[in-house]
Order: sequence, then C-alpha cells, then structure tokens
Amino acid sequence: MDLSTPLTYIKGVGPARAAMFEPKGLLTVEDLLSYVPFRYEDRSNMKSIAQLAPGEMATVVAEVRSARVAGFRRRNLGLFEASFSDSSRAILRAKWFHSEYLAKTLEPGRRVALFGKIEFDNYTGELAMLHPEFEILTEDDDAAEAALHVGRVVPIYEAISKVNTRAIRTIVHRALAQIAPLQDYLPESLRTRFKLVDRWTAVRQMHFPTPDSDLRLLNGFRSPAQFRLIFEEFFWLECGLLLRRGKAREQAGIGFELNDQVRERIKTMLPFKPTSAQKRVLGEIARDMAAPCPMHRLLQGDVGSGKTIVAAEAAVIAIENGYQVAMLAPTEILAAQHFSYLKPLLSKLGYVVVLLTGSFSDREKLQLKKLLAEGLVHVAVGTHALLEKNVEFRRLGLAIIDEQHRFGVMQRLGLAHKGAHPDVLVMTATPIPRTLALTVYGDLDVSVIDELPPGRRPIVTKHVTADHVEGVYSFLKKQISLGRQAYVVYPVIEESETQAMKAAEKMYAHLSREVFPDLSVGLLHGRLPIPEKEAAMEDFKLGRIQILVSTTVIEVGVDVPNATVMVIEQAERFGLAQLHQLRGRVGRGAEQSYCILVTERINDAARERIRTMVDTNDGFQIAEMDLKLRGPGEFFGTRQSGLPALRVANILRDQEILAAARNAAAEFLDQRTPAGEFERAMEYVHGHWERRYGLVEVG
Ligand code: ADP
Ligand code: MG
Repeated sequence: MDLSTPLTYIKGVGPARAAMFEPKGLLTVEDLLSYVPFRYEDRSNMKSIAQLAPGEMATVVAEVRSARVAGFRRRNLGLFEASFSDSSRAILRAKWFHSEYLAKTLEPGRRVALFGKIEFDNYTGELAMLHPEFEILTEDDDAAEAALHVGRVVPIYEAISKVNTRAIRTIVHRALAQIAPLQDYLPESLRTRFKLVDRWTAVRQMHFPTPDSDLRLLNGFRSPAQFRLIFEEFFWLECGLLLRRGKAREQAGIGFELNDQVRERIKTMLPFKPTSAQKRVLGEIARDMAAPCPMHRLLQGDVGSGKTIVAAEAAVIAIENGYQVAMLAPTEILAAQHFSYLKPLLSKLGYVVVLLTGSFSDREKLQLKKLLAEGLVHVAVGTHALLEKNVEFRRLGLAIIDEQHRFGVMQRLGLAHKGAHPDVLVMTATPIPRTLALTVYGDLDVSVIDELPPGRRPIVTKHVTADHVEGVYSFLKKQISLGRQAYVVYPVIEESETQAMKAAEKMYAHLSREVFPDLSVGLLHGRLPIPEKEAAMEDFKLGRIQILVSTTVIEVGVDVPNATVMVIEQAERFGLAQLHQLRGRVGRGAEQSYCILVTERINDAARERIRTMVDTNDGFQIAEMDLKLRGPGEFFGTRQSGLPALRVANILRDQEILAAARNAAAEFLDQRTPAGEFERAMEYVHGHWERRYGLVEVG
C-alpha cells in the first residue's frame, strides 16, 4: 500500500463508503491521510464510575442500563436521559436536550465511551454528565483498535456522509498501519531551520497524538506535527506559484516606451488631478509596461477609489505605442458603464473606443470584429463576448480585466493568448490582505490604491427594520427635494432572480403610484431588454429619474455623483462584499451621502454583517470581516479564483505560517542549494503540484 492506493484497498472501505468519500475528494490513501481532525479530545483520564469526582473531565466506558425520552404531559421536551453502569456497579446518569433521536442509538445493553464533565446533581444526589460526547463501542473491535477511541488523546473528524468520526479514525489507523513510512521531501536545511518534525512522524501524530501532547496546541492547530504539515503545504504551494510566476516573466512581452509625448497625452486626458495613491500605482504599472516581459498586475482599490482612470492612463501608454487595448467587464451594465466613462476621455485624444457585448446582433458583432482585426479600433470594452474565439485583435498590447472574481483564470489566459503576450492588468474592488493576495492571485503582482479622491465624505450608514420604512420614505423625499437622487435595491438570490425582479417591480409600482406620486421613479432589472436598461441608466444619470428601483444589476460600476441615498431592502440577504459594493454607488459627490439597510427577518450572522456595515466604510476591514464570517473557501470561490484547495492549512487561520513559507520558498528557489536537494524538491513539486492542484502551468 502506498499513497496512491485507492481507499477501497483498506479493510472497512467498500464500494458504498468509497462512494461517500468521493465527493469529498477522498480517493486515495494520500487523500485520507490529509483529512484533518478538526479537534481533539483528551480521553486519557479513564475512570470507573465509582472513582468519578464532580468537576473533572473524564472518560467512562460503561453499559446503557435504561434510557427514556422525558416529557411533561403533552409537552415533549425532547430530553433524553440514560443511566449507565460499569464493573464498579455505580450508576452514572447522562442527559441530552433536544435529542430524542438518541433513543435509537443508546439502547439498553450498548457499550459506550462517554466523555465530558462530571456534575453533581443536587436533586438526586447522584453524579451526572450533561451532553457528554459519546461513542458506541462495538464488540468486534480488536483490542488494539478499541484502544484508539478511549484512554488517550482522540482525534475528532467531521463525519463524511454516514461515516462517523469513529469509523474514520479506524480507517485512518488501518491505513497508517499498512503503509510504508513516508518520505520527506522538504529540504533538510528548512527542517533544521524551522525545527520541523519529519513528515512520517507529523502525519501519524496529527491523527494520533502522543500521550504527552499539549491539547491546547492541538486544538489551536499549532502542535509540532500540525505546524510541520501546514508549513509544508504552504511551502510547496508557494514554490509552485513562484515557479509559474517566474516562467511568466521569462516570456517575451512588449516593452512600451514611456516618453514625454506619452506623458503629455496622459495629462491632456486627465479630467482631474490624480491622488498620490493613483500616481504611485500608475508608476508601478508603467514600470511593468516598460519592461520587456508581460505585466501581470492586480490593482486593488476600494469602491470609488478611482481605479478606472488609472486603467485609462495605462491604455494611453499602450495606444501611443501603437497597440490596442481590451477592457473586460463581468456584466453588460458594467461594460456599458466603462464604455461611457472611457469613451469621452479617450475620444478627446482621437482614439476609437467601441463596446462589444453578447447582446449585439451578429451583424454588429461581425462589423466590430472586422474593425478590431484590422486595427482600426484602439480600445474595445466588452463582456466575455470579447473572449470568443473568433475575436481577433491586430495588435493587442494591454488587457484590463475588471473584477477578477468573476472570471476564471483560464479565461484570463485565453485573452492573454490573443496577442503576443500582452500586458495584463486585473482590477478588483474586493481588497484582501497583502500576503493573501499574493497567494490567492499567486501569479500577479499587487498594487493598492489606499486613498479616496479628495472631498469625499464618509457615507452615513443606518440600520432600519422594515416596520419603520415610512421614516425612510420621508427621508428620501427630503433628500430629493434638496435636488439629490436615490437608489432602492432588491437582492437577487442566485436561484430566484425572477423573485427579486418581481419584488422590484412591485416596489416600483408601490413607490411610483402610492408613496412618491409626484416624483419620477424608474425601474432597472436584469431581464429588461438592453435598450431599456440603457435608457433607464441614462435617465438616471441625467437626473430625469429621481429614484431608481433595481435589482443588483447596479452592483458594480454605476457612477452618478448626484445620487446620495442608497436604500437596500432585505439587506439581511446580501453578503458583506455585496453590501459594500452597493454602498459605494453613493458618496461620489461633494454632498453627504447615506446608506440605509432595511431588514425584515434578521439572524445573528446577518446582524453581524449589518453591524460591520454601520461601523465602518473601510473596504479592507469589511473584506477581512467577510473572510472571517464566510471562511476562505466561500470567500474566494476557490475554483473561480484559481486558489488551490488547501487541506491541512487554512489561509486565514495560518496567515503567519503562510508568510514564513512564502519567504522560505522564495529564498530556496533563489539560492537553489544544496544542489541535490534542490533537484529532488523540484521533481516533487512538479509531480505533486499537478496532481494536487490540477495545474499544468508550472515551469
Ligand atoms: P472605482 O472603479 O475604483 O470604484 P471609479 O474609477 O469609478 O472608482 O471612480 C469613482 C469616481 O471618482 C469617478 O467619478 C471618478 O471620476 C472619480 N475620481 C477618480 N479619481 C479621482 C481624483 N483623483 N479626483 C477626483 N475624482 C476622482
Ligand atoms: Mg470601477
């Protein structure tokens, strides 16, 4: 048996269990050994019932004597009570609330291991356990395997479908017993420097900690074994990312010339003075563009921080050097927004800017494609329609991609291949901490705009419950009488866009007829035909619509400085990032802006999100909270962001180990010593990287 052996070769894993393991990505022994216990219990304090003392944590192996679901007349409390006895003949009671279902499991005669705190029951004068952890001990366990579950520090695994922690523990133990000791591929020098235990020891101790293990370290994922495995996972990941990055930088790219004429043209285009943050990031971009290898840069900046103008400056550099620019947006509305923002700026310099989206007719598309291929267009703004195979640029020099999150990495590459390795600039308004950014967007360099344009006032955010919505309406009236405009937004829940649309339509009817009969109210949602959408946006921009009711189509990109109120209905249904994005649609002018979060049925998680919104306007803080609340997997949308699925490590919990591993990897790749070790490690990274992360791009 080795790491690649299918799990069905382990006794106890038949086709049925294998089928339950598969969706979790557990196919081989290696997968199983990377299935990490999420906590540990110290069950080494084994006592007979007679020995128990109130207040202690103990493990008792005993038999169920009697069991019942307690209730009072018609009220069923779901309280499950059982009494246990062992060879000491003393009795121990245990209670579980809301646990009627236990009646089926804890039947009289069953032998169980109970683990928990011993309490003294004042009423009965007996010892009792409240909600103890327990495991059924089956008779056919051989002695060695029975000893896995009690009398020691025990790993607790998350159940996999119907396979419980106990069964997983047994299977893992069998795998460890049958496999040959694992080799260690981490360079010796690193192991010494970071005092890392060897891999075989680490894997075994992660699953079955030694008796002297520190439980607190274990449950904090910082035991020597866990540390070693986390470090290792990050180290190889970073090696892979750095290699891929290095390779990308060896490719031939375009060395754009940045001379006085280009600078002059940029100055002519700029409608305002850039902030110092904008100047700094343009400097970083310009340096990349001047270098003769392709730029891969991520531009992070909070909503409204002014990323678009920086993108426009980069476009000028490319165009003045005789190249074309593609700008990719995730939605049609956003593409249209970018187009209407960029067109006047760039037309001023005599450049031709076109828009290409999926909703264009075939004839229109054909024409535009011809212009692009002939090089008659300088800037093409578009949606994924720009990525279609038959779209060809004559001389694509710069690709700008807005909102990284919505595009797969492959698509990004697809675009990059359309020219002779054009420069790529990715823009995102979902800021994340720097070390994370460097890993999540592994092959990208990161620039950050950390300053808002001058004169912006922080947006005032308020939370209102739906029964106080009248107050919101009179506030809207007042703002509009002052000449301002407002948005009222409805959440689109993934599976029910129709529902959001209906809610928006209903609210539109209600607001326009009953609440604000004297004002002009407009409606915008995803299902409207494009011309109607554009007309609604245009009317809002020109102030002909005072209140725009919409679904989340305006989530990104709308730029109407006179709009000062953002009302978000059913705000409890939006995620933090989305709320922040929406709020960023106001506060773009000199007037004080407001964001009003209206909630209907709010739970704790939603309350936390709303509180965060009310407390801060800072996108970085919000992103960090979002990351905490949702967890990295969901936050980054692993598949979409190209972030490989980590197994032992947790990118959020283990940030400082990530940073250390990243530095170590960079140093290791840089020094390439000692020679034999380096080659061995490289071989491992290639083989391992491909299988584990499914990436074939590594050097
Ligand atoms: P982002 O895309 O980062 O959310 P935008 O590029 O849409 O932000 O910019 C938001 C608004 O701020 C736009 O109206 C833009 O013209 C304006 N703006 C950007 N930079 C500046 C600046 N340096 N001075 C004044 N206004 C600016
Ligand atoms: Mg933008």
